[in-house]
Amino acid sequence: MAVTRTFSIIKPDATRRNLTGAVTKMLEEAGLRVVASKRIQMTKDQAEGFYAVHKERPFFGELVDFMISGPVVVQVLEGEDAVKRNRDVMGATNPADADEGTIRKTYAESIEANSVHGSDSDENAKIEIDYFFDENEIVG
Ligand code: ADP
Ligand code: MG
Repeated sequence: MAVTRTFSIIKPDATRRNLTGAVTKMLEEAGLRVVASKRIQMTKDQAEGFYAVHKERPFFGELVDFMISGPVVVQVLEGEDAVKRNRDVMGATNPADADEGTIRKTYAESIEANSVHGSDSDENAKIEIDYFFDENEIVG
């Protein structure tokens, strides 16, 4: 299995509750390595651009407002089959459907305020990493 990268966001509901370390610990225990990390306040433009694939969904406006409601921590994670490994430890989008031991089951407040984002494919991981990081900010 190849070592690959994925992109993660610790969302405002988690930073607000001081869970940056707790969430990162679960990522690390799942075999992922944080090779880039920064805490930022996303702008509305940035959030709308990031979630552009969802712009026709009914929750788009609320999702953007939520993502700019407080700081987020954007991270690049590295590990074997990183996209799937991260999605597995994140759990289902709706915490009510998430498996025990996943980040969303443990910490998410709702289907919207669900504590973490993770890329859904290698292709999107690259696009999302490039959206927030320069290559020289990523140090394995
Ligand atoms: P995931 O984050 O698991 O990949 P999606 O890509 O489908 O899920 O959705 C992106 C984000 O939009 C979710 O993480 C969540 O914050 C929000 N979201 C998804 N579905 C809903 C919904 N039905 N109502 C409100 N927010 C939602
Ligand atoms: Mg998604």
